[in-house]
Amino acid sequence: MSAEPRVVIVGAGPAGANAALALAAAGVRSIVIDDNPRAGGQIFRVGPNDAIGPVKPDPRGVRLRARLAERADMIEHRAGHEVIGATPERRLTVAPPDGPVVSLDADALVIATGAVEVSVPVPGWTLPGVFGLGGLQILLKQSALVPDRPVVLGGTGPLLYLVAAQMVKTGARLAAVVDAADWPSPRHLLGLAAMPKLLRQGIGHLLALKRAGVPIHRRAAIAAIDGADGVAAVRIARLRPDWSAESAPDATIACGIVGVGFGVRPNVELTGLIGCAHLYDPATGGWVVRRDEDLATSIPGVYAIGDGAAIGGVENALAEGTIVAASILRRLGRPTPAGLVDRATGARRRKTRRTRFRAAINGWSGLRDGIFTLAAFDTIVCRCEGVTRAAIESAAASGFDELRAAKLHSRAGMGLCQGRVCGDAAARIVAHAAGVAVEAAGMPRARLPLRPVAFSNVAAPKS
Ligand SMILES: Cc1cc2nc3c(=O)[nH]c(=O)nc-3n(C[C@H](O)[C@H](O)[C@H](O)COP(=O)(O)OP(=O)(O)OC[C@H]3O[C@@H](n4cnc5c(N)ncnc54)[C@H](O)[C@@H]3O)c2cc1C
Repeated sequence: MSAEPRVVIVGAGPAGANAALALAAAGVRSIVIDDNPRAGGQIFRVGPNDAIGPVKPDPRGVRLRARLAERADMIEHRAGHEVIGATPERRLTVAPPDGPVVSLDADALVIATGAVEVSVPVPGWTLPGVFGLGGLQILLKQSALVPDRPVVLGGTGPLLYLVAAQMVKTGARLAAVVDAADWPSPRHLLGLAAMPKLLRQGIGHLLALKRAGVPIHRRAAIAAIDGADGVAAVRIARLRPDWSAESAPDATIACGIVGVGFGVRPNVELTGLIGCAHLYDPATGGWVVRRDEDLATSIPGVYAIGDGAAIGGVENALAEGTIVAASILRRLGRPTPAGLVDRATGARRRKTRRTRFRAAINGWSGLRDGIFTLAAFDTIVCRCEGVTRAAIESAAASGFDELRAAKLHSRAGMGLCQGRVCGDAAARIVAHAAGVAVEAAGMPRARLPLRPVAFSNVAAPKS
C-alpha cells in the first residue's frame, strides 16, 4: 500500500459524503465520484443553485454541500462523473462528463450508490406522461418543473405520500392518490414510532392531502393507463391481500400525468459487477449486499454503505458513512480520532431503532408479488428491447427458469438500461411462470459499461 492511500467513494449522497467528511477529519484524503452535478444524492437533490425551484432545499443538504466545499483540500469531488465499471481488484472505469473514460485504482473502495425505484408494468405505462415517483420528484427538485395537467399518483410506501404532499404544496392539481397498502395497523404504527420525527412527517403529509381534499384510494392500484399519444385517464382496480387485482378496474380518473412508485431497492449494479456476495432480504429491498460489522463486503478492501447496500433511509445512510470511515482507518492502520469512535459506536447503537422502523414500513407497505400480474400478456415489460410479459413467460416456460437464461432467451434487460427499470418485474414474472421463489430466479446483473458511453471515449482508456 502506498504512503498516501487512495480511498475512492462512489456516490455523494448522505452516505458517501458523510464517509468522506469523517475521513477528512481524520486526515485521510478521498475522491468522491458522483454522476449528479451537485452533491446530496436523492434526498438532498437540488438544481444548479439552492435558490431554484418550488421545493425549498433541505437545510441538511445545504450544510452537507457547504462542509464538502470547506474540505475541498481533502475531498476531491468529481461531479458529473459516471462509474461504468469496476473489478474485484478495485479498479474503476470512470466516464467524465466529456472526453475519454479513465481508470482509477483504489486502496479502499466505498460503494454508496443509493437506491433505485421498483417499476411495476401495467397496460399503458409506456405512454408519454407516465413517470416514476422519483422521476417526478427530480423534475420538481432539480428543474423546478410543476405538472400543468391533473396528476394521479399510485404505488405504495412513504415516497408516495412525500411526493403527493410536494405536489400539493407546489400547486400541482392532484386528482387522486392510489395506494396498494391499507392503513398501517396499530402494530405497524408502534414500529413507525421508533423514528418519531419521520412518523410526524408522514402524518403531516397525510394532513396536507386531507386539507387539499385529495381522494386517497387504498388497497387499490392503477391497473391501466389510457390515452392515444399521451395520458388521458387511469383505471383503478381493488387489490386482494397479495396485491393481484380483485376484479377488472372499476373506476376511471381523468388526468394528464401519472406518477407510479412501489418503493425502492438497493442499486447493486457495481457490487454485482465487482463480484461481492449478495443475499435476498425483502425487508431491506430484495437483493442486498452481504457485509460484516465493519460494512466490508466479501471482496477485500471493498465496502458498501447506505441504501446502495440495503435500504435503511437517510439516518442509516449518514450513520453508515461514519461507521465505514472508522473501518477504513483501521484497514489503513491509521489512528481513529476519539470523536469518530464515539460517533461510530452511537451510530451502531441506534441501529435497533432504525431496524424496527424499517420492519414496520415493510410490514405496512412492502411489495407483494401479485402486483406484477397487473401487466397484460401483451404489456411491454422491457421498454428498451420491447419485450412483453408473454415473451418472458414463454422463455420461463421453455425451461429458462433462471433470470439470466430468460434474459438471454427473451432479451428482457439486454437494452441500454440493462434491466435497471424492468429487472424486478422480469424476475418476478420468470419466478411466477416457473413456479419458483423470486430469489431462486437469481439477481439481475449488469455488465460493463453500466451506462451508455460513446465508443470514441472507450477506445483507449487513460490512467
Ligand atoms: C428516486 C428516489 C427519490 C427519493 N426521495 C427521497 C426523499 O425525498 N426523501 C427521503 O427521505 N428519501 C428519499 N429517497 C430515499 C433516499 O434516497 C435515501 O434514504 C438516502 O438518500 C440514501 O442515501 P445514500 O447516500 O445511500 O444514497 P443516495 O442519496 O441515493 O446517493 C447515491 C448517489 O450515488 C450516485 N450514483 C449511483 N450510481 C453511480 C455510478 N455508477 N456512478 C456515479 N454516481 C453514481 C447517485 O446518482 C446518487 O447521487 C429517495 C430514493 C429514490 C430512489
